[in-house]
Amino acid sequence: MAPRKLAAGNWKMNGDLAALAEIDALAEAHPEPGCEVLICPPALLVHPMKGRVGAHAIAVGGQDCHARASGAHTGDISAAQLKDAGADYVILGHSERRADHGETDAMVAAKAAAAHAAGLVAVICVGETEAQRDAGETLAVIGAQLAGSIPAGATAANTVIAYEPVWAIGTGRTPTNDQIAEVHGFMRDQLGGRVGDSGNVRLLYGGSVKPGNAAEIFAIGDVDGALVGGASLKAADFSGIIAAL
Ligand code: PEP
Repeated sequence: MAPRKLAAGNWKMNGDLAALAEIDALAEAHPEPGCEVLICPPALLVHPMKGRVGAHAIAVGGQDCHARASGAHTGDISAAQLKDAGADYVILGHSERRADHGETDAMVAAKAAAAHAAGLVAVICVGETEAQRDAGETLAVIGAQLAGSIPAGATAANTVIAYEPVWAIGTGRTPTNDQIAEVHGFMRDQLGGRVGDSGNVRLLYGGSVKPGNAAEIFAIGDVDGALVGGASLKAADFSGIIAAL
């Protein structure tokens, strides 16, 4: 059976305890969502958010984890700690972490392996910069990121891939439908033979997804959901995206 589509929210470094009220509104709007719903708040909010979710069908995830299980890594959080706090997913290799923290594909792969070992689903992000797209390098960049960022042992059950063009994140700009279809079809091909049950790996699109463009994006072949930044912060916006899946 095909896996459920996934609406994933990335709160980034936004939100506080008061913002957990958005979870109540989301649960009320979608008591039985037609897709899987995931929110990845800042690490401090993972545990209280999990408590706030209660029995509602909303999964909680982290935005990063360390590659090591424990030890002298001040300020870092392990995959097992995220799991212990109530997370089921972790976003890895987001372009903001690749840019702000110098994360390489090899580092992302090591973190994803740690996530898998802790029982977390890794949402591995890939995406080209605008300069790379303009230079005609998009598929080469995505191919290299996939090859380097996905660890051995990845399967459709423990791995989600998010295609997030860097130039579309937080800008209000999106690729054309044909451009999204091209990259998602390419990613599906690339996963074959490398990831277990590759036909069922969920491929998310991310970058300026809003209630107004979600349905059109979700109608594109091989788009199995979205990774949403800004429009996941308010239940009213995220609801519109969940309803489109
Ligand atoms: C993101 O950062 O993962 C993202 C897709 O952001 P936005 O939806 O705000 O473009």
